[in-house]
Amino acid sequence: MVFKLDLHVHTLSRGKVYVDDRQLKAAIKARGIDGIAVTNFFDIEHARWLKEKLPEHTIIVGQEVWSRDGHVIGLGMTHRVNDFQTVQKTVEDIHAQGAIAVAVHPFMHHGLGAKAIEAGVDAVEVYNGIIGGLGVFNFLAGRMAQKYKLPRLSSGDTSSADFIGWNQTHVDADTAAGIIEAIKRGKTRVVRRALPLPWAFLTHNLLKTPHLKPWPVHAAPCLVCGEAWVISLKASSCQCMGCGVVDRSHLACCQGHYYCVGCLAAVGHAKALALRQREYLS
Ligand SMILES: [Zn+2]
Ligand SMILES: [Zn+2]
Ligand SMILES: [Zn+2]
Repeated sequence: MVFKLDLHVHTLSRGKVYVDDRQLKAAIKARGIDGIAVTNFFDIEHARWLKEKLPEHTIIVGQEVWSRDGHVIGLGMTHRVNDFQTVQKTVEDIHAQGAIAVAVHPFMHHGLGAKAIEAGVDAVEVYNGIIGGLGVFNFLAGRMAQKYKLPRLSSGDTSSADFIGWNQTHVDADTAAGIIEAIKRGKTRVVRRALPLPWAFLTHNLLKTPHLKPWPVHAAPCLVCGEAWVISLKASSCQCMGCGVVDRSHLACCQGHYYCVGCLAAVGHAKALALRQREYLS
């Protein structure tokens, strides 16, 4: 049978739940899909919890791992993989637990680029809905998948229940338990749809408007104040609030807070665990 899935969804971001079990159930039903892969950064606990809560749907436990070389997703995971390792070690850790590694948005926003091939990823996200309006980056990903004959995925990369399932990967598998293996064997077909580009958010971003709220379609709230992390055209010197290291970065909170990737992972994971105890485990 064919499983209709959105294989890259963020339900929790930096200490805040964006899609809870009720919203996820409604979104799956409204979009007519079979399920999703929950691929949060720094944490797989919310994914495991959602899988337990919604046994009637296909919920794949995943993690978007921030390797030193770029973002890579593990699908079908049982343990969290450490962030900020080389991509080779990251892919090795994903494979060691019987999961598959996917190069997501390989040519944009911390993508792996050609390193994905050397690292031995199992599949490529040839269409990422967030950058769907910026065609060239997805085009390059598609070309890489074709050149190296790798399985193709399309996903939303969203943290908003409203956009879950706009992008789908149709996987031809006998049972839900066989989905990961079927992806690996290339039994996929992609359905693409660009998510709206956040012009208002980007304008405020460029104008350096203070107290900017995170863009809910792909939310990256500050771990300190909860306001948006923003991109600047020019890298500036930022001091990490965790370890004190001074980096040059294009990305920081609109209020000036900054964490290096290592501290972002550690604090993000601690916040996700605290949240599990307080909020989403009843
Ligand atoms: Zn990413
Ligand atoms: Zn993502
Ligand atoms: Zn902040």
